[in-house]
Amino acid sequence: MSLYVVGHKNPDTDSVTAAIAYAELQKALGEDAVAVMQGEMNPETKVVLDKFGVAAPEIMTDAAGKTIALVDHSDLAQAPDNLDQAEIKAIIDHHKIGDVTTSNPIFFCAMPVGCTGTVLKFLYDVNKVEIPANIAGLMLSAIISDTVLFKSPTTTDDDKKACEALAKIAGVDDMQAWAMEMFKAKSAVEGVPAKDLVFRDYKDFDMNGRKVGIGQLELVDLSLVENIRDDLYKALQEVKEEGGRHTVLLLLTDIMKEGSDVMVVSDDPAIVEKAYNVKIDGPAVWVDGMMSRKKQAVPPLQDAFNAA
Ligand code: MG
Ligand code: MG
Ligand code: MG
Repeated sequence: MSLYVVGHKNPDTDSVTAAIAYAELQKALGEDAVAVMQGEMNPETKVVLDKFGVAAPEIMTDAAGKTIALVDHSDLAQAPDNLDQAEIKAIIDHHKIGDVTTSNPIFFCAMPVGCTGTVLKFLYDVNKVEIPANIAGLMLSAIISDTVLFKSPTTTDDDKKACEALAKIAGVDDMQAWAMEMFKAKSAVEGVPAKDLVFRDYKDFDMNGRKVGIGQLELVDLSLVENIRDDLYKALQEVKEEGGRHTVLLLLTDIMKEGSDVMVVSDDPAIVEKAYNVKIDGPAVWVDGMMSRKKQAVPPLQDAFNAA
């Protein structure tokens, strides 16, 4: 039976390319593996797959009866449906350990690095498997995307070293230029419904029994969303109501100025104020230096919910 390799819901470039790269590694090791994804690709991921000539994975949202490897997450809220009716074989990740549990021993490889692509570079090397040029290009792009070309505080030396090596294999001479091309694609918001933008890079969390959603739009300039701020705020309110959520945030991240305008809809904004040490007196509040959801947005919010 095929091993289905899948990243998180609302897939980002890392989740899609990590599924492809881990499936390729398993195939090179003689396993029957197939990369899948839980939803449509974002515009950045499309540009990345196009550039390296790799086909988009099939969409799979139901894990029932399947053999599964999770990449780029281990939170049930981000995993495929009916994961309890699947056999999990492996988890490859770079986040906090989530709430996925298994009944059998599994291969679990998580590292505190900036991207699953960096973990995969390590796994290819450990297994002495040569990385195909197009797969190296995908892994390189994932690291550029997740670390915002090393600007995110999640960046480690391992990420930079992996990028150097992968760029050589992939034949990418100008990493900076390729990163700008990706970021421009990532910033595309024109004509996209506000709710789709909220969900473009979005994750739900369980924080002390409360459902909390955090979306992020990484933009080369915040002026790109100036005209649609009201629509985004309305969409956030809808997302909160529809999903029975306690709090929904949208990080409007300016990757050049290196900070985020955090849009907040919450039953108790004081928790958010306490978490980020800010005063909220409008739809959004600027948090200087905030680039990373997993390292800067989630931990203080989790702590504030735990204390509430
Ligand atoms: Mg991800
Ligand atoms: Mg990632
Ligand atoms: Mg990200």
